[in-house]
Amino acid sequence: MIFDIAVIGAGPVGIAFACGFANTNLKVVIVEKQTKKIIENPKIDGLEIALTHHSANILKELDVWDHIPAKLISVIKEARVLNGSSKYFLDFKHRQIQKECLGYLIPNNLLKKYLYKRLKKLTNVTLVNGVNCTSINTNNKEYSSIQLSNEKKIKASLVVASDSRFSKARSMMGISTFTHDFDKNMIVCRMEHEKPHDNIAYEFFRYSQTQASLPYIKKQSSIVTTVTKNTSSTLMKISDKNFNKEMQSNFNNFFGKMKIIGKRYSYPMITTYSKKFVAQRFALIGDAAVGMHPVTAHGFNLGLRGIEILTKEIKFAIKRNVDIGLPIVLRKYQIRLHCIAIPLYLSTNGIVSLYTNSTVPAMLTRQFVLRAVNFIKPIKQTFLQVLR
Ligand SMILES: Cc1cc2nc3c(=O)[nH]c(=O)nc-3n(C[C@H](O)[C@H](O)[C@H](O)COP(=O)(O)OP(=O)(O)OC[C@H]3O[C@@H](n4cnc5c(N)ncnc54)[C@H](O)[C@@H]3O)c2cc1C
Repeated sequence: MIFDIAVIGAGPVGIAFACGFANTNLKVVIVEKQTKKIIENPKIDGLEIALTHHSANILKELDVWDHIPAKLISVIKEARVLNGSSKYFLDFKHRQIQKECLGYLIPNNLLKKYLYKRLKKLTNVTLVNGVNCTSINTNNKEYSSIQLSNEKKIKASLVVASDSRFSKARSMMGISTFTHDFDKNMIVCRMEHEKPHDNIAYEFFRYSQTQASLPYIKKQSSIVTTVTKNTSSTLMKISDKNFNKEMQSNFNNFFGKMKIIGKRYSYPMITTYSKKFVAQRFALIGDAAVGMHPVTAHGFNLGLRGIEILTKEIKFAIKRNVDIGLPIVLRKYQIRLHCIAIPLYLSTNGIVSLYTNSTVPAMLTRQFVLRAVNFIKPIKQTFLQVLR
């Protein structure tokens, strides 16, 4: 099987990347370990993805966004960040970026479903599902090859891995990562509540736990609770009735009565940053390149920025008749992605470390930082810039 590009992992980033080669002569293959049935109808995983305007535009260009029913996408008009038990909040408003909203919210399973619907229409993309990539060989000057668990081998000018933040492809290539284990879990679920959310997202940084809500359609929100592993296993086990009560009290009755819809899902808070994004005829994209902490909701957004850069470099190389696997093509992607990802990764990890620290100096700094960001325009603009 000979292709121009072989993608390992048909998660949202891998599929979006492949969709970027619609209307080209490039032959693309995606290898995914899950079955076609699951790829076609992804299971609810509790993740509700907040998207920036830039990401929505990328999805429009990929001809995905306009096919998602508008009633399944909610808008985020404002975001408020609160510290400890203080009523003071840092706020970001849609007017501050001169747009009708700050961003959008869409369930991850729907995002994946509509990305796959687009992929299915592309005649130059082949999906090989239900198989694992078991090894990668990049020693040949002309092509890279990947070995599949079904004994088949794929040769391609370029292999791109988008197989999650715990990427096996990355390890097979000997690429190491900076890893930070926050030793906490994030519990996510959808809840219905008595009082309206008015399309405002909230982040309550308490001392032992962080409680966030992202406004979904009607009176529903995605509720995100970050807690220690011990508390998380208790919260995952208690009955729905007790969980509802617990959330109501965690939000200080802010939303009135709260009721869980569906299941709770728990994710470990481990962030990863690959020491390099490219190697000979090989590139990392999505979480495999940078696995962000979800608190600032940058993960998939950053993944889309990365594939936007890589796709442009590949198309530019093709126009000039340059081999797409050459270091000159891939290195430009690596440099440009580092420039965007390093500040986001470090500032997000810094925010989490500061706002989960309950020492007195940290508590004072937390209050000061909220006020500084609210009042010092250039700092606020730096945060808002990312949402445009
Ligand atoms: C709690 C939480 C909340 C989040 N909220 C947001 C948000 O609001 N906004 C935002 O932008 N991002 C958010 N994110 C991040 C976002 O979910 C990820 O960035 C995104 O899912 C990454 O997509 P991916 O395709 O890179 O990887 P994944 O979604 O991890 O997909 C990897 C794919 O590779 C496949 N695979 C793995 N190994 C192999 C193999 N050996 N062979 C073949 N296939 C393989 C897997 O089956 C899977 O389909 C959140 C994440 C979490 C955990």
